[in-house]
Amino acid sequence: MSKPNILLIYTGGTIGMIKDPETGVLRSFDFDNLLVRIPELKLLDCSIETVSFPDPIDSSNISPEYWVQIAEIIEENYNTCDGFVVLHGSDTMSYSASALSFMLENVTKPVIFTGSQLPIGDLRTDAKENLITSIQVASLQEKGKPIIKEVCLYFEYKLYRGNRTTKINAEHFEAFASLNYPDLAESGVHLKINKEHLFKPNSRKQLEIHKALDTNIAVIKLFPGISPMLLSSIFDTSGLRGVILETYGAGNTTSSKWFIDILKAAIKKGVHIINVTQCSGGSVIMGQYETSIQLKKIGIISGRDMTTEAAVTKLMYLLSKNLKAKDFKILFERSLRGEMSQN
Ligand code: ASP
Repeated sequence: MSKPNILLIYTGGTIGMIKDPETGVLRSFDFDNLLVRIPELKLLDCSIETVSFPDPIDSSNISPEYWVQIAEIIEENYNTCDGFVVLHGSDTMSYSASALSFMLENVTKPVIFTGSQLPIGDLRTDAKENLITSIQVASLQEKGKPIIKEVCLYFEYKLYRGNRTTKINAEHFEAFASLNYPDLAESGVHLKINKEHLFKPNSRKQLEIHKALDTNIAVIKLFPGISPMLLSSIFDTSGLRGVILETYGAGNTTSSKWFIDILKAAIKKGVHIINVTQCSGGSVIMGQYETSIQLKKIGIISGRDMTTEAAVTKLMYLLSKNLKAKDFKILFERSLRGEMSQN
């Protein structure tokens, strides 16, 4: 049997940088020399090809146009490659992994996002382990078929479902967490795959790539004292089609009349409003408290235990489908790529 063929896609971020030993300045690493820089990669039981963004970016500059570029690279190489490793800055990696999970419908090959906190040439770098294990995970096969069939994020010994992650720390090597879904794999002395938690796509369906994303959205984080003026000015934004409302606890908001009236008027105008919690873990349960009963009544959509990153990208994806309000709500409240727990 031939070795799995893995495509490394370098988009930018610290993982692809080296420090100039003389000046100390970080610069992009020449990926054509990857095997020379990291000879350990030769020990892996797979062949590796690399492709790089023409101008690698800091991931804080990511936008849907770049997500389309990543999706197109995967589309062009889908039939010839067995797995994909996307090297990406950690700052917005959870957004990109979530976006790609929605864009790549029926993917049956691994797409592993990874990055690092320290550049690849640094003495104490986390880049090598993250890169090597990501490639290893992307190469895992059973009966000639990939074991992982979804978009994941690998960082500091853990493989997560991409659309369940959040960056939780700006300096620890353990920079990501998936608080509402178990880890898919753990790398220790052995690589332990938690098979029962892996996504099981319908393998008879063809890969479908969705490139349209609608960015006419807003994310509003509630805070005690938020003013009617601020809220209504956001909802008055021309072209606004969807709002992610980051609420308290299990999906609670102020029950003030002015607040509910603004939301009600926006829904009437056709704006989709999604309730996600500001808490890092746990779920929105609308109707559990008096302070969320109204929200349920006026037709706010429940984001349940979705991360804000997943909710933002799912909103962009579903808005581009121009669905009727009722269908939009049904689809948003359904798990499409394992991004939310079912009731
Ligand atoms: N600012 C960098 C980025 O997200 C940090 C990193 O690479 O982790 O591109």
